[in-house]
Amino acid sequence: MNSPERFAEPLYVSKPALPPLADYVALLDEVWASSTLTNLGPLHQRLEVAVGERIGRGATSLWSSGTAALVGAIQALRFQGSVVVTPFTFPATVHALAALGIEPVFADVDPETLTLDPASVATRIRADTTGVAATHVYGALCDTDGLAAIASDANLRVLYDGAHSFSRPGALFPDRDSVLGDITIFSFHATKLFHTAEGGAATTEDPELDRRLRLARNFGITAEDRVEGVGLNGKMSELHAAMGLSVLSLLDVELEQRRVLAAVYLEGLTDLPGLSVVAGAGENLPYFVVRIDPTEFGSTRDELHATLRAMNVMSRRYFFPLCADLDPYRHLPSARDLPVARRAADEVLALPFHTGMSPVDAARVASFVRWHRSGGRP
Ligand SMILES: *Cc1c(COP(=O)(O)O)cnc(C)c1O
Repeated sequence: MNSPERFAEPLYVSKPALPPLADYVALLDEVWASSTLTNLGPLHQRLEVAVGERIGRGATSLWSSGTAALVGAIQALRFQGSVVVTPFTFPATVHALAALGIEPVFADVDPETLTLDPASVATRIRADTTGVAATHVYGALCDTDGLAAIASDANLRVLYDGAHSFSRPGALFPDRDSVLGDITIFSFHATKLFHTAEGGAATTEDPELDRRLRLARNFGITAEDRVEGVGLNGKMSELHAAMGLSVLSLLDVELEQRRVLAAVYLEGLTDLPGLSVVAGAGENLPYFVVRIDPTEFGSTRDELHATLRAMNVMSRRYFFPLCADLDPYRHLPSARDLPVARRAADEVLALPFHTGMSPVDAARVASFVRWHRSGGRP
């Protein structure tokens, strides 16, 4: 079987949305005029309002990164002892707990949404457990009602890692009391759908938690001569806020173009036994992730990954390895028995999905997958 022609240049999974340079420079003019580079300046304030409006509920604070927001949230929630956490997430979710001296206790995930399974959480709660940390995966929401019920029974606080979730307000945050948990954090890293180069946010409906978050973000300082608690520097600079303001105005166009790419992928990848599109991918649009069942597909995910890489399609195994299998955590007793999450980590593959690519590119990627499925190898 002849090999199809590979891409001349590597096609990456994500590519940062870049605003027209003139838009960014116009905002930099304001920075120069105000001579304010950071410390919650005017652009920061504007972006904080705009991001909060897009999220549509609670109070939102901006941060220097999603990880900094996680650390601030864990401090604000006063987590200690152990916290039940999903293993199917980016390492930052687990690292933030461990860095603050809290033991991560892994629980398994739901086979459909790949988010933390409340039934598994219930079996992992210990006497020293103070919270639950769950990730909305590829934009698919956790079972927030299920987790809220368990948390209320066991007197735990719930932290959501919504790093993948900032895009579609109404659809993303349905009118459900439990949806934000106690705090939800977001990441605005350059690889995310909406970004500020580096940045993040934290949203809560509890005014006391919002106050503690803002303290944690700024060294715990409450007044010129008063430091009320332990805090770090989690502030977003004016230069990052300027990037965010100019990228935010492109977000709806970006989403529209991604909807077209998703439709092309869905059409090109139908009727392939053993391949499924993961929940969330078609709706919320932060990533386009497929799942490979090796028995039905006739090849492993890693073999497909190797074919795509050879064709210059830089697919990514995301999330892989499972956080429970990382060196700092693999020794934990809770790292062992996670069959659903471990299988997912072996089967998921993220395909290129960004507006730097055309619908024709997406159709070509899909045709490479079909070619591989029918036995083609580069
Ligand atoms: C990107 C990401 C983070 C880290 O966010 P940063 O802004 O890079 O610190 C945390 N959790 C998840 C699920 C992510 O995808």
